[in-house]
Amino acid sequence: MAKPKRVYQSWKGNNKFLLGGRLIFGPDAKSLIITVTLILVPVVLFCVFVARNLVHELQQESAGYAILVIAIVFTIYVFILLLSTSAKDPGIVPRNFHPPEEVLGFDSSASVEAGSRPLPRTKEVLVNGLPVRVKYCETCMLYRPPRCSHCSVCDNCVERFDHHCPWVGQCIGKRNYRCFFFFVSSTALLCVFVFSISALYLKLLMDDSGTIWKAIKESPASVALMAYCFIALWFVGGLTGFHLYLIGTNQTTYENFRYKGDNRVSVYNRGCIANFLQLFCSRIEPSKINFRGCVQEEASKPPKSNIRETDINISDGDTRIKVEDDLDIGDDIMKISQRRNSDEVGDVRGRGSDRSPIGRSEVDFGFGLESQFSSRPSY
Ligand SMILES: [Zn+2]
Ligand SMILES: [Zn+2]
Repeated sequence: MAKPKRVYQSWKGNNKFLLGGRLIFGPDAKSLIITVTLILVPVVLFCVFVARNLVHELQQESAGYAILVIAIVFTIYVFILLLSTSAKDPGIVPRNFHPPEEVLGFDSSASVEAGSRPLPRTKEVLVNGLPVRVKYCETCMLYRPPRCSHCSVCDNCVERFDHHCPWVGQCIGKRNYRCFFFFVSSTALLCVFVFSISALYLKLLMDDSGTIWKAIKESPASVALMAYCFIALWFVGGLTGFHLYLIGTNQTTYENFRYKGDNRVSVYNRGCIANFLQLFCSRIEPSKINFRGCVQEEASKPPKSNIRETDINISDGDTRIKVEDDLDIGDDIMKISQRRNSDEVGDVRGRGSDRSPIGRSEVDFGFGLESQFSSRPSY
């Protein structure tokens, strides 16, 4: 009997899998080699040319050894964070085999004929009494949960899509954002550490030899490491600061770039401290996909929508239908905006990018992903 196919073996996205589907990467995971090299090479140089020599330079040998151990342990920690960010499901929404019922049965009184009526591109749901426009993804055949976007690199819809990071070769989304932030901020701290200790070593050499030039001649590696860390810190330190701002205001990178200058009311924002607590103290939900599971027969019946118990206003008609949701969608609302956009479905920019024939307020969801939609009062 033929072995049943696993989910990861027939995966439709562009992901790469390792260890029988236990590790999931983006299609550009090879860039991890560059990222690892950019971290590992300077750390090795630091350990060999600075930390090792410091053991003899410092009055207390144990302090020198401590620096060496800290550098090695901290680098291992950074690599664990890097792997945790790039080798796990960022929050992929499982694709449907068929369009959801309300798409096929959009006009239930008439038989569904291809091209007889356009598919509803967007629909509106209520969260805490505020209207949220969700968009239909043609590729994944589902209405995207709010804050979800389709990554064109990985070809998946990803919840709370932040961006696709080429350095880690993975989407940054709901499930790996925290790891990503710790990776970036820890790398910045590592830069500060290597820079400071290299400067200390140069200072000690200068005290011994008398001039800075002699010290530089004695340890050119220290100068090179300081220059390298200084430049690197502009990137990782700047990125850390930017993400601290995003976390404090409960935004994603995508939202920040997409809606810059829109003057949208930030209704997701619970206040800086609450936003931080929400990000760092909330439980990371398990993956919605069991990549190692066996492929199931395609459902003969079109699946129900991923939007639960919500009155929906389909934007190209007056029909309102009740649909159900099997996705956990956040309750904290971040932004309201008047929309006049005109983008396409399936674009990496995703949310906020579908053509809507009527201008409507849009509310986006925040990080909290526990509560459900409330019912919409009838018009
Ligand atoms: Zn999609
Ligand atoms: Zn991606």
